[in-house]
Amino acid sequence: MPYRKTVAELSAMLQSRKISSVELTKGFLDRIDELDPQLNSFISVCEETALKAAEMADKQLASGQASRLAGIPYAHKDIFCTAGIRTTCGSRMLDNFVSPYDATVTKRLNEAGMVMLGKTNMDEFAMGSSNETSYYGPVRNPWDTRRVPGGSSGGSACAVSSRLAPVATGTDTGGSIRQPASLCGITGLKPTYGRVSRFGMIAFASSLDQGGPMTQTAEDAALLLQVMAGFDENDSTSVDREVPDYSAGLNDSLQGLVAGIPEEYFDDRLDERIRSAIDSAVAELEKLGIKTKPVNLPHSEVSIATYYVVAPAECSSNLSRYDGVRYGYRCEQPRDLLDLYQRTRSEGFGAEVKRRIMIGTYVLSAGYYDAYYLKAQKLRRLIQNDFIEAFKSVDFIVAPTSPTVAFGLDEKKDPVSMYLSDIYTLSVNLAGLPSLALPVGFVDQLPVGMQLIGNYFREDLLLNIGHQYQQQTDWHLKTPENFA
Ligand code: GLN
Repeated sequence: MPYRKTVAELSAMLQSRKISSVELTKGFLDRIDELDPQLNSFISVCEETALKAAEMADKQLASGQASRLAGIPYAHKDIFCTAGIRTTCGSRMLDNFVSPYDATVTKRLNEAGMVMLGKTNMDEFAMGSSNETSYYGPVRNPWDTRRVPGGSSGGSACAVSSRLAPVATGTDTGGSIRQPASLCGITGLKPTYGRVSRFGMIAFASSLDQGGPMTQTAEDAALLLQVMAGFDENDSTSVDREVPDYSAGLNDSLQGLVAGIPEEYFDDRLDERIRSAIDSAVAELEKLGIKTKPVNLPHSEVSIATYYVVAPAECSSNLSRYDGVRYGYRCEQPRDLLDLYQRTRSEGFGAEVKRRIMIGTYVLSAGYYDAYYLKAQKLRRLIQNDFIEAFKSVDFIVAPTSPTVAFGLDEKKDPVSMYLSDIYTLSVNLAGLPSLALPVGFVDQLPVGMQLIGNYFREDLLLNIGHQYQQQTDWHLKTPENFA
């Protein structure tokens, strides 16, 4: 079974009938069966529905009417609703939740004929940077199983890295696609806010959440984004704007483009060895005709403080719906309504989620609203303005994804040290920009990632640069020895 192949390669094999979707799907299901007990990247594996979808895809393929992604197996982050298949969002609260409808992203992937292998593990309600807040236990990093895969899309990153699936979905509120992609040595794209529908994607912080692809290559990210992106009347923040042909521009020349290097991101807080991996990647970009220029993002300093007010504020509001009445978990024998609310929420949510709800409720409360929430909104605008200013003189911005390589399980015990690991990713969400994370080397035999941040709706350019970079280098082809 050709489990190391990219989506683009598998698609060619399926279209020419060199392999059937059923064979491929069985092959990946077998790998999951054999290897996932050590990794824990899946919360649910959907053997039966996957095989049925694969049979249907084979029929489409045989008729010659199939789309480019027909028959391709994928792993779906367990934050996307899937009709008839449980969606837990990594929480005890939704342990028994079966959505009556599909998320728009789910629906589009299904309609393209893709085959969902299962739902991937994640930090509870996508709150975390290590996957350790999941009710279903931590995911292990396939490069070193004593380490975290990153989070919150850690299950998806792990599954693609260990080739338990050729491709996966993720969501990124403050780095949850890019950081785990980098820690696991894969490619991940966080699209512009509004590019991919949030309908049926369980809400964490609605003004920041955005779904996107987690793949082996930029070429595959283009294929997947093509299907995921586009206007959806069910999401009022989805943008009604044409979706370009992302694959068509992958080989465009990069001659004359200017990359901004933000001084604030490359100071002495960044591990010297990570910096040097990124320097080599930038040198590769220069070989492709790209010039570099220093830029300043002076408000990067406040991104953690700003994000950790805005995101909890929105989460406290979004998570108020889990009250034991409407969704998921309900405590046993409540005495009265208040007891029902209190016990359901204290038993159903984990510690990190409760911490965020408390912070969020506090910063939104009368008396503190102006001092914290309003202030954070103002800072958010200044962070966005920094990028708007920078994009006046550069085409894209190069940045690290994470200040360190994958850290140990249980290593970061206090919440603030965990929050600090988001230093390079949060601003992008606060500004609503697209960003592509790519593997660019290794430190201590662990993958290092870099992000390319683009102007609004320039996913096409990021994918073009990412693809050209991957034509020149082979970091994205390296796989963890014990698993792939
Ligand atoms: N690590 C960040 C947080 O904990 C971002 C998570 C995400 O992007 N979903 O909120």
